[in-house]
Amino acid sequence: MALLEVKGLRTHFNTLGGIVNAVNGVSFTVDRGETLGIVGESGCGKSVMSLSLMQLNPVPMTSYPEGEILFDGRNLIEMTESEMRKMRGNDIAMIFQDPMTSMNPVMTVGKQIMESIRFHQKVSKKEAAARALQVLRDVGIANPEKRFHEYPHQYSGGMRQRAMIAMALACNPKVLIADEPTTALDVTIQAQILELIASIQKQYGMAILLITHDLGVVARSADRVMVMYAGEVVEEGRTEEVFSRPLMPYTWLLLRSLPRMDDDGADRLQSISGSPPSLLNPPEGCSFYSRCPFAMEICGQIKPALVEKMSAHRAACHLSFEEMEQNAPMEERDE
Ligand code: SF4
Ligand code: MG
Repeated sequence: MALLEVKGLRTHFNTLGGIVNAVNGVSFTVDRGETLGIVGESGCGKSVMSLSLMQLNPVPMTSYPEGEILFDGRNLIEMTESEMRKMRGNDIAMIFQDPMTSMNPVMTVGKQIMESIRFHQKVSKKEAAARALQVLRDVGIANPEKRFHEYPHQYSGGMRQRAMIAMALACNPKVLIADEPTTALDVTIQAQILELIASIQKQYGMAILLITHDLGVVARSADRVMVMYAGEVVEEGRTEEVFSRPLMPYTWLLLRSLPRMDDDGADRLQSISGSPPSLLNPPEGCSFYSRCPFAMEICGQIKPALVEKMSAHRAACHLSFEEMEQNAPMEERDE
């Protein structure tokens, strides 16, 4: 049985303009110890989806997650807020782009980690302190005995990211959700943090949901990748498989938009023209229709279902891989 099984997850917001379908029927599984990369442009529903998994939607009165989120066989959607509070941080932990959103600026880092441990586990202060010190050490913070007593603002950006990861690890969660964990950092620190996440995964054996718009990060770190567009999953499969044989034009274009070195040595970033459809009135057919270079008449009328096109590789598109290759505009073809 998968550790996490999401079935038909839907999160919509009631707004003055109407119902916004931010997450529109998403299904996937994550196994123990596995890293699932979740990619897509901003606004495609990645972050709302991850907050829905934690039952942490930004506007609880107007947002409604529906479907099933089975964690170890229990449906999180049916849990009460107090049951959820026991799960969060303990079984499923989350790290964000900005550590300050999950850290308390007026409490020392060591004390914050201790409090989180003591909220979830019946341990003495002394045991919690020892554990806090251990996780600070595990995330590579130098001189943890001294750093333990410092406030978040006394840490550098990269160290704060490490401290937030330490806090997430404190209760030994089974799932770690990392939402754009390295976006705000410079390239060298980014690489260090990704390496850290990979090494703690080995050490702790947790599953990781790595949410990012950066396909390079996914290529390096994820076992499987799931591509989201307009609140839906449009492709999913093993990372090497999806990267070498994308079966949906959006994925194909995302891969094309990775920075590449041109003949003249210039770093070129191609972006996909157009913008995603409104989630207020989603189009009837394929949600990528208005931007797709391969769009056919049927695409505007009938929504392609997400189906297994090759072994363990799902995609939502009316085209086959061969058709996509054949129809690719000349300048887009591999040299
Ligand atoms: Fe493009 Fe049609 Fe495939 Fe949608 S279904 S991605 S419009 S080819
Ligand atoms: Mg986001």
